[in-house]
Amino acid sequence: MVELLYLDNPYLQDFTATVQKIEGNVIFIDRTAFYPGGGGQPYDTGRIVFNNTNSSVIKVNRDNVGHVIEGELPSLGEKVEGHINWERRYAVMRTHTAVHVISGVAYKQFKVTITGNQLYEGRARVDLSFENLTKEIVEDIIKESNKVINKNLQVKAYYLSKEEFLQRPGLMRVNPKLYEKYDKIRVVEIEGFDAQADGGTHVKSLGEVGKIVLEKYESKGRKNKRIYVRVENES
Ligand SMILES: [Zn+2]
Repeated sequence: MVELLYLDNPYLQDFTATVQKIEGNVIFIDRTAFYPGGGGQPYDTGRIVFNNTNSSVIKVNRDNVGHVIEGELPSLGEKVEGHINWERRYAVMRTHTAVHVISGVAYKQFKVTITGNQLYEGRARVDLSFENLTKEIVEDIIKESNKVINKNLQVKAYYLSKEEFLQRPGLMRVNPKLYEKYDKIRVVEIEGFDAQADGGTHVKSLGEVGKIVLEKYESKGRKNKRIYVRVENES
């Protein structure tokens, strides 16, 4: 079992771990700060250092958290240092939290559902669904989202038992079935504003998000729209 260090400390950039298994160019370590991908958040990249050698981590496998290495491989049982590509990860964290704000505003104030999202570095694609959703409504959602960000609310993660979780149906936005196999469910809460089941990494306060800008609006029919947003530093 690998300990997922990013769950309790999303700001952890560097860590040490021990190599437990090697399969081709994929190494398995006992603990990691690398996010393996999932929930629309991409896997982290970075490097590992061992015995004065630097190798790249070019991918992390979502299913088994295997770290795909380019370069020299460490040996079994060897201690390695892991360093995640922080600039990229932090940009993704800001975008991830931004999408939760958009989702909260859309859901609570506009009854609009987010049906999917894909996060990139400082940018995200968000799919929305609502009868007669117009560009004007989307612009309002973004405007309201920026007002929420300006409140600089705190963001925290905690766990609920399945029973507690099922009593709060608003926590399951996308696919309720996804959570059936877990005994404990991790919830990411933007204090007093929005809470969602989530396994990803987030910034600790909304001020770090900056400003959300609507980049592109695409109509996929009467009900379904796709938008692209990016986060910018507040000027
Ligand atoms: Zn999320």
